[in-house]
Amino acid sequence: MMHRLRIKIDLLRLILVIAVAAGLLVFGSVFYASSQVQKTQLIETTLENNYNYAKKLASSTDEFLRAAQQQMATTAKVVAKDYTNIRFLEIEAERLRVQADSFNSVVFVSADGRIVMTSPQNKDLIGEQAKSQEIQEALRQRHPMISQPTLSTLGNLVIYLSYPIVSDQGEYLGLVGGTLYLRTTGALHRLLGEHYYRDGSSLYVVTKNKQLIYHPDPQKIGVFTTNSVLAEMTPTGSDTVTRVNSSGQTMLAGYALIEASGWVVVAQRPLAAAIEPLDGLMQRVMLKTLPLGVLILILVWWGARKIATPLHLLADNARNMDAVGTELKIKQVRSWYFESYELKKALLFGMGLFKRSIDKLNKDVKTDPLTGLHNRRSLDAELTHFEISQTPFSVVSIDIDHFKHINDTYGHNVGDLVLKGLASLMQECSRVSDLACRVGGEEFLMLLPETDLDKAQQIAERLRTEVASTPMPHGGVITISLGVASWPSGGLSIADVLKHADEMLYQAKHAGRNRVEAYQP
Ligand code: GH3
Ligand code: MG
Ligand code: MG
Repeated sequence: MMHRLRIKIDLLRLILVIAVAAGLLVFGSVFYASSQVQKTQLIETTLENNYNYAKKLASSTDEFLRAAQQQMATTAKVVAKDYTNIRFLEIEAERLRVQADSFNSVVFVSADGRIVMTSPQNKDLIGEQAKSQEIQEALRQRHPMISQPTLSTLGNLVIYLSYPIVSDQGEYLGLVGGTLYLRTTGALHRLLGEHYYRDGSSLYVVTKNKQLIYHPDPQKIGVFTTNSVLAEMTPTGSDTVTRVNSSGQTMLAGYALIEASGWVVVAQRPLAAAIEPLDGLMQRVMLKTLPLGVLILILVWWGARKIATPLHLLADNARNMDAVGTELKIKQVRSWYFESYELKKALLFGMGLFKRSIDKLNKDVKTDPLTGLHNRRSLDAELTHFEISQTPFSVVSIDIDHFKHINDTYGHNVGDLVLKGLASLMQECSRVSDLACRVGGEEFLMLLPETDLDKAQQIAERLRTEVASTPMPHGGVITISLGVASWPSGGLSIADVLKHADEMLYQAKHAGRNRVEAYQP
């Protein structure tokens, strides 16, 4: 037994799977690409912001330091006129510290290194030798200076700014020094500490020697940093840099040089914080794309159905080609595109061909090839049908008289033509429902449905006279003998009826031929 192979996947599913897979791939790659673009954008913006921020702070700090030096220059010029006047120096020191609000403390030092005046005033220090190395260095250099961060006499981490005091005659009188506290709320601290971020961003300022002079964490101020960004660079300007810090975090940094002091401002932000908005952004992209995606999916499904349905119906019907009504179903398939149209056409053509062959075979099987009349098989089928449907009928058995003689005289071929001639006459005398049969060599039969014995006798008689008066192909006329019987009169079986009709035919032959005999039950 052959098993029909059932393939589960159909065209609709195939199209859907391919379309959905393609859609997901396209969506995925677009999504990935756009997230990459967004990420790059966020990084660039962050670097740019940090860079600008560092630059801005560097320039403010630069301005601050220059302004502080300018104030010192002015004070130096003023006190140079009367550098021995202690009262005058006291007022000037106070004025420089308080008015300018730049310095945490101010000091005047004589050319030989003695402290002449301080603000806030500290009487103990006046007249003492200035111990600070920075002051010693400034006295030696006799130039305006900005020191490295250093511990002051009072234990504060400070930066010294100093300016030489020179008399009108060009004599070096000493210097004016100012301190900027780094850890407490000095002016510099205020300037740098003004801005800070909450999201891990940070800002710090470092000297040439990599010492932190500003950091959001006060503990780190004064510490020498091992920070890789600074280790690797000797900044001469401003730029951006991406680096991994000591805790393994990638930082996006921008830095700028403070020219007045050679310090560097670094503004940095963790990469993770910078690209954090990406998640929300991509989520929004997803949400925005979703309705369109669903719509496209529905459209694809609809389109796929449109394409697959005709083929599916054709395939389904092709599988059940032997079922009733299949041809009509195939005709109703809406094959709107080329392939389905051609398939439908081919299928219908094939079915038509098949049907015509079957019809012809059916006909052949029921037909006598010589005369085209119904054959014995056809007769039997019809009789069975009558029996089942209880249709009353009559039969007329027919045999040609002395047919042998025609064969002998004119030959078998002419005999055949005579047989055909008789068949034509039989058909002419038949009604539509009657069945003209050839049941033997030169033996015929008429099956007359819904016909009683009398009527059948009349029909037989008419046929007999017609034959007897019609010239046949051999040039003369022939005669026939006929036997008639009816069913169900007499309560006989169908086989009996045929037998009686044959008996009547035999009787007609005996009675002299060319006559009709009917069976009266
Ligand atoms: P009757 O019936 O009047 O008694 O005489 P008959 O000459 O017809 O006698 P019978 O029935 O014995 O002869 C029938 C002849 O029909 C015998 C046979 O050669 C001839 N025959 C049978 N079938 C065919 C056929 O298909 N073609 C031709 N040409 N002749 C056939
Ligand atoms: Mg015979
Ligand atoms: Mg005969």
